[in-house]
Amino acid sequence: MTFGSERVNSLPPYLFSVFHQKKKDLQEQGVDVIDLGIGAPDLPTPSFIIDALTIEASDPKNHSYSPYGGCTEFKKAVADFYKRHYNVDLNPVSEVLALIGSKEGIAHLIHAVVDPGDGVLVPDPGYPVYSSAVHLAQGRVIPLPLYEENHFAPQFHSLTPADVDRAKMMLLNYPSNPTGATVELGTFEEAISFAENHNLCVAHDSAYDLVTFDGYRAPSILQVPGAKERTVEFGSLSKSFSMTGWRIGYVVGSEELIHALSIVKSNTDTSQFLPIQKAGAAALNSDFSTVTSNNRTYQKRMEIMLDAIKELDLKANKPRGTFFIWAKVPKGYTSQMFAEKMLAEAGVIVTPGNAFGVNGEGFIRISLSAPEHRLREAVNRMKKWKTRGLS
Ligand SMILES: *Cc1c(COP(=O)(O)O)cnc(C)c1O
Repeated sequence: MTFGSERVNSLPPYLFSVFHQKKKDLQEQGVDVIDLGIGAPDLPTPSFIIDALTIEASDPKNHSYSPYGGCTEFKKAVADFYKRHYNVDLNPVSEVLALIGSKEGIAHLIHAVVDPGDGVLVPDPGYPVYSSAVHLAQGRVIPLPLYEENHFAPQFHSLTPADVDRAKMMLLNYPSNPTGATVELGTFEEAISFAENHNLCVAHDSAYDLVTFDGYRAPSILQVPGAKERTVEFGSLSKSFSMTGWRIGYVVGSEELIHALSIVKSNTDTSQFLPIQKAGAAALNSDFSTVTSNNRTYQKRMEIMLDAIKELDLKANKPRGTFFIWAKVPKGYTSQMFAEKMLAEAGVIVTPGNAFGVNGEGFIRISLSAPEHRLREAVNRMKKWKTRGLS
């Protein structure tokens, strides 16, 4: 690219787009590809949210610009949700900000905090947007390695003193994409205490906060006493309410960090369309019965896939959150080799673990965002593929 900036030109290629091309090629050859690589729900947005949007969209006073940072209805719904669900008190004026999806907020927060050369601790494996945003802000990615033997919880003692010195910010994400790992509040207490000792700010991405099973309830990092001084938490309606395309999320916590982010945002965007914010408020003010019912759907799918995984020499733990299965590939395969072979020979797309960082090598991410009959079909193909001689 002639006109792209150095930052843009040096961004590593997005691994997902490579697979997207292969999928298209196979589909053009008439292959029925089952895509378990997508990190988004296939379930529709609940109808009460669509109804709220329709009503709000027909009101002309919702057609103007939103207030910067979001409308009162949405911010209050977020604060009420935090009080009700986590018993965390938030001032909806200074401690809550509406986002055009949490991805937008995460990327812009990094721009609001990171100066060129500043270090950011980034979970590895982790959501690829973290590293790209740090790179675009000319910061330095410091991988925070997550290992299976520690249930993918951060191991702060494995960081070198030089890396810790360079770091200004730490990113975390539980329930985790891609590993499906979940934590108890103790992990967050440890993270906050590490951040206090080294004067770091913390951003926790809780995009899957409500996508949980088996009675597990994901904690908020803001439940840690004193966390709010240096910590923000990102939330999204994309996964819990199947609203990916609507682009609505929020960030809560540290007034200072939220203020810094709001400066970037007010110079970049003018918040989300008011009817979408108000429909988002309706979602957060609801009784969450649609969330519970969708979680049951994901759990059923998970059981179907986990049964198949056992037979395939893949190894995976049953997650308590997210709709991802993080499975170890058989000996002798890299993530990429295994994923490519599975696509070519079984017509099933999964995401190679190395797309999420070097520590993702040796794993694949199987997304459960396909209806049960398609998952069963994928499972049958995978089994047949194995009997034809997978290893
Ligand atoms: C999907 C996802 C997001 C982005 O969600 P939006 O609110 O739709 O931008 C953020 N973080 C993780 C880990 C995700 O998987």
